[in-house]
Amino acid sequence: MEGSRVTLNQKKRALIAGIAGQDGSYLAELLLEKGYRILGFLKKEDDVSVISHLVKDVVLEETELVRKEDIIRWTRLFAPDEVYNFAGVSFIPASWDDPYRAFQVNTLLVTAFLEVLKDHCPGTRFYQASSSEIFGDPPVSPQDESTPHNPVTPYGVSKLAAHLLTGLYRRRHGMFAVSGILYNHESPRRQDYFVTQKIARAAAEISLGRTEKLRLGNIDAKRDWGFAGDFVLGIWLMLQAKEPDDYIIATGKSHSIRDFLSAAFGHLGLSWEEWVETDAALVRPVEVGLLVGNPARARKKLGWEPAVSFDALVRMMVDAQVARLSRSVK
Ligand code: GDP
Repeated sequence: MEGSRVTLNQKKRALIAGIAGQDGSYLAELLLEKGYRILGFLKKEDDVSVISHLVKDVVLEETELVRKEDIIRWTRLFAPDEVYNFAGVSFIPASWDDPYRAFQVNTLLVTAFLEVLKDHCPGTRFYQASSSEIFGDPPVSPQDESTPHNPVTPYGVSKLAAHLLTGLYRRRHGMFAVSGILYNHESPRRQDYFVTQKIARAAAEISLGRTEKLRLGNIDAKRDWGFAGDFVLGIWLMLQAKEPDDYIIATGKSHSIRDFLSAAFGHLGLSWEEWVETDAALVRPVEVGLLVGNPARARKKLGWEPAVSFDALVRMMVDAQVARLSRSVK
């Protein structure tokens, strides 16, 4: 027995803030495969369906994340080797509706983590979920790590402040604190209000005769969409690197919402033009520019490559929605 306890204690420990979300859940799976012990933070109101298969293998703690005292207590108790911060307000329109909340979670929480780690666990490695939105309306496309920042939404500004602060603590306090500048990343675990999942779900519903229309905003908008399961590998690699640095994690390829519609509906033998209506109320007052990431640094220094193509990602999301709906009618 004693021997097994020793083995357990030798396992690496990771704290994942925002474990009940898409990225937190994929990362938790990856770290469990690698033998980590995991403590996950989640909010009371979180839907835990994406981590229901993991609950027996991880320790979960409901916490109001902006409370620095909770972070201090848990960080000292658990003594993580690595902290991954995915907690955040991630839907851009929500950051216009409640910018105060966006800053509380996206920025102040990061300040709390950095302060706590600096004072109590200086050897712990820290990952901050930064975003392509820090480039907002960029002067060039594709962007790389040296492209000037120009956010155009409260979300982008809140993420940029956290991004800059993480770099500042790295330089000023010698911490292993890094930001992953992630471009849009999707999966069957994406929430329904993001456009990819909204399309995948509607295409599945239409193919099964459950709905007749899909209303969307600007379908000419373009994004660099990758698979979240690929992206968490890049995130983990960032914390295993010899030297701390910020990295772009992206596919480097841009597709429009029309492309997504065509691939999703086409996969089910449907023609999207017959089912989609544009709704002016869904068009955003401010759109980002052409956000496409150049992942060369991650490829060169981390050996990271995305494995799932755009078409495979769309098919995966549509198939998951068809399977979910088929289960719900049985
Ligand atoms: P974002 O890049 O984090 O904002 O990801 P979203 O999936 O929310 O939006 C991606 C793009 O899809 C944006 O340019 C939106 O303007 C556009 N879009 C068009 N129609 C819709 C819609 O009905 N819902 C959402 N969420 N986005 C839409």
